[in-house]
Amino acid sequence: MSSPPLRAVLETVASYKPSAGAHGSTARPRPLSANESPHTPLPGIVEAIAAAGSTVNRYPDPGCGALIRAIAKAHGVAEDRIAVGAGSVALLQTLFQAVADPGAEAVYAWPSFEVYPTLAALAGVESVQVPLSDDTHDLRAITSRISSRTRLVIVCNPNNPTGTVVGPEELRTFVESVPPTCLVAVDEAYHEYVRGPAATSALGLCAAHPNLVVLRTFSKAYGLAGLRTGYLVGDAQVVERLRRACLPFAVNTVAQQAAVAALGLEEQLLRRVDSTVAERHRVRDTLVRRGWEIPDSQANFVWLRLGPHAVDFGAWCASRDVTVRAFPGVGVRVSIGSAEDNDQFLAAADEWSSARQTAVAGAGRTRQAGKETEG
Ligand SMILES: *Cc1c(COP(=O)(O)O)cnc(C)c1O
Repeated sequence: MSSPPLRAVLETVASYKPSAGAHGSTARPRPLSANESPHTPLPGIVEAIAAAGSTVNRYPDPGCGALIRAIAKAHGVAEDRIAVGAGSVALLQTLFQAVADPGAEAVYAWPSFEVYPTLAALAGVESVQVPLSDDTHDLRAITSRISSRTRLVIVCNPNNPTGTVVGPEELRTFVESVPPTCLVAVDEAYHEYVRGPAATSALGLCAAHPNLVVLRTFSKAYGLAGLRTGYLVGDAQVVERLRRACLPFAVNTVAQQAAVAALGLEEQLLRRVDSTVAERHRVRDTLVRRGWEIPDSQANFVWLRLGPHAVDFGAWCASRDVTVRAFPGVGVRVSIGSAEDNDQFLAAADEWSSARQTAVAGAGRTRQAGKETEG
């Protein structure tokens, strides 16, 4: 019997595949593939989750009132400029659906967040991918690809998977160059990990640019990936229409109340982010000393430009009980985890370099292991 016909696009889009863990090993793999917080929730958050649990015979607050009030207070923006979703990916899906008139195009850098092409294809929006330059957004090139069909431009800042940032002045000039008829979404999923001059959020640009929306998430710095909550800040009229495109009751009661609790414990959570940033420096500095070329990451992961060796390196790490994310033919993204997890990754990377150096020397060549990672 033949199965009923479904949209042809479903044959071509990739479903999300978690990275392969270790094979044939009994050790717990070190989870460095999904950019999660290595810290379990603070007691105050666990309490909020337990309290919310006793009310789930009722539907959640469809307007996410308490959470929106807490976000509004945290950022000093009006409540009607905020939309909450079941993870910021749900809001990205809403954005794509909201612009998906026939012939619509979305422009974004590549490589960038893996879900953009999938959400575009599902919504029937044409993707225009603009190559990164030196692992960083090339905003001039992105501007040059904006046409009368472009309805959405996404800037992932810091960029997943490379960790690079564009600075606030560069971003301001870029937003000013985009026609007001085209939405600009700045995906700031990793904003809390940015240090230095780029640590200014695009939120400050929203008031002057009604076509700008900024996406944030509770999944990374706030440690609530398993509960699925994210939000968007933008112009009140845009937000009002985007809210119509969201599923009703999408953000569950437990997620709403845990996110409110997380904002109340922001100071402690941001100290945990500081420790992740310190680990990021340690991991990157160690790798650079050992001959790896690693772009300056402002997120909770580092990017190894392994080119054709990406998949091999991912399998190598898996065989040493470290789960990383390989992008075939391009590179490998390694999350910053606990110090112990990071040490195990650094040991795996070292062994890989030594094994390759041996192989290279055996073949009578003189290239260093680290140089081979270029590309
Ligand atoms: C992790 C991530 C998100 C967050 O997704 P949620 O759905 O909120 O968990 C959004 N954008 C990027 C670029 C990410 O890497």
